[in-house]
Amino acid sequence: MTALPTEPARSAEPAPATTGDGLLLPVPDDDGAPFWEYARRGELRVQACAACGVLRFPPRPCCPHCQSFDSEWRRMSGRGRIWSYVFPHPPLLPAYAEQAPYNAIVVELLDAPRIRLVGNLVTSADAPLDSVDPSRLRIGAGVKVAFHAMADGVTVPRWLLERP
Ligand SMILES: [Zn+2]
Repeated sequence: MTALPTEPARSAEPAPATTGDGLLLPVPDDDGAPFWEYARRGELRVQACAACGVLRFPPRPCCPHCQSFDSEWRRMSGRGRIWSYVFPHPPLLPAYAEQAPYNAIVVELLDAPRIRLVGNLVTSADAPLDSVDPSRLRIGAGVKVAFHAMADGVTVPRWLLERP
């Protein structure tokens, strides 16, 4: 009698990292770790190919244009434009439901118009997610980056209107 095939062992999914009040923290992978380390220092940097110079996001090991594995992290001005936005509504995780409706925006970087980052538009770096009146959001509005320390050693880029 042969043994029945068994399911391959599956490791349990790690619980998502959250702040004390339940907001999700980024979980950096090897390629993205420098992005978060620079953010912690208050710098917005995007990965660039060290061979051909093309910027890429999200970070990954190989340049899609020239296939080089050499990369560097180029500092951005931190200025951009709202490329798109949404107002998430419940059902949401409880910590987010409390602040809904808030905004999630896609920012096109002025230094690199093909690079777009997702974040939140707020009135100041440490303001709540719902601090900007939804009527203020416009596609194309100028924004600048601000850095919010979410937890010990974890800083995320957020966005402020250039003309509040
Ligand atoms: Zn390249």
